[in-house]
Amino acid sequence: MSAEAPSRAAQRLFRWYQRRHPALDAERVWARLDLESPAPGELTLEARLVADLAPHRAALAAAMLLIFGLGVSLVWGLGPRLVAALSARGGFAAATGWALVPFFAGFVVHGLFILVVHEATHHNILQNRFDRSLGNIALGLLFLPFLAERYQHTHRVHHRWVNTAHDNNWTAFRDKLSQRARVLYVVYELIPILNNVDRLAERVPVRRLQAALAWGVALCAALLFRPPVTYWLLVLFWLNFVNANRLWVEHFGHYRGALANTYSAPLSFGIGHHALHHRDPRVPALVLMVGLWFRRKDLSLRHGLYRLLRRRDWAHFRTQQPDFAPSTAEASAGPARPPETRAAARGRDSTGGA
Ligand SMILES: [Zn+2]
Repeated sequence: MSAEAPSRAAQRLFRWYQRRHPALDAERVWARLDLESPAPGELTLEARLVADLAPHRAALAAAMLLIFGLGVSLVWGLGPRLVAALSARGGFAAATGWALVPFFAGFVVHGLFILVVHEATHHNILQNRFDRSLGNIALGLLFLPFLAERYQHTHRVHHRWVNTAHDNNWTAFRDKLSQRARVLYVVYELIPILNNVDRLAERVPVRRLQAALAWGVALCAALLFRPPVTYWLLVLFWLNFVNANRLWVEHFGHYRGALANTYSAPLSFGIGHHALHHRDPRVPALVLMVGLWFRRKDLSLRHGLYRLLRRRDWAHFRTQQPDFAPSTAEASAGPARPPETRAAARGRDSTGGA
C-alpha cells in the first residue's frame, strides 16, 4: 500500500532538519504518532515548520504566486503551442500531443488550484481580506470563473460539517446513485460542471463584484493566451478526473473513526495531508507538502477509481457514521448504529486504508 519508509532524499533532508530540532523522532513522524497520539508536550513536525517559516510568510506568498504565474503560462501558453507543433507532424505525434499534453495540464491546473484558490479560501496566502479577491482572480486565470465565490462557500461548508449530514461533499443524490448504479455514479462524477447539478439547490452568497472580477480576468486571459476550446475542454476533463479521484481517496474507506485519509498525489501541494488539513486548515500548503514527504500514507490517488469500482463497501466516511441510515443521507436523526456493528455486518476489518 504505502512505502515502508521515506525516500533516501527525504531521510537526508529530515536529518538536516533534525539538527535544528533534535527532539524530532523520524519513526514517530513516519508513523504519524506525533499527530495522532502525541506524547506530553510533543510538537508535531508541521507545527515546527510553521513556527520556523512564520517570519518568511511574505516571501512564501511571493513564491506561491510566482509558481502560479509560471504554471498558468505553462498550461495556457506553452501547452497549446506544443499540441499545435505535434499536430502539424500528424499521425502518432498528433495523437500523443492531444492525449498527453491536456492530461499533464489537467494535473498542473489542479495543483495551481490547490496552491492559490484553496489556500486563499482558508486565508493562507496574504492572510487578510484580499485573499478573497486573490482566489477569484486565480479562478479566472485557470479559466474556471463559473466557480468564483461558489467554490469558496461550498468548501467552507464541507470543512464545517465534514462527514456529517450537512457535508455537501456527499449529497443524498450521490449516495443513492452510488448504491444503486455505481458505474453510473462514476460517470456522473467524471462529467465536469454537470456533476454539480445536485448542489444547485444550495444557497450560495455571491458578491457580484467578486464574481465579475473572476469573469473579467478570464476574459483578459482568453484574449492573451487564446487556447483552443477543445484544448480547454480536455484540460477541464482531466482536472475534474483528478478531483474526482481525490474525493474517492480523501473521505472514502471503511469506518475507522477518521476524518480523512493521508495519501500521496502528484503535483498537489500537500492536499494529501488531508486529515491534518481538516484538523487545522490554517497550516499552509507548502508546510503540508513538506510534512507529507516524511509521513506514512494510507493510499495514493491511483486507488480512488479502482477501489470504487472493485469494492462495494468502499464508501464515503459519511455513510459510516453512527447516525447514518442508508438512502436517507440527509436525515441527521437516523437510527443510531455503532460503527463496529456496521463494520462487522460487512465482514470487513475496520481500517480506512489498505
Ligand atoms: Zn480545505
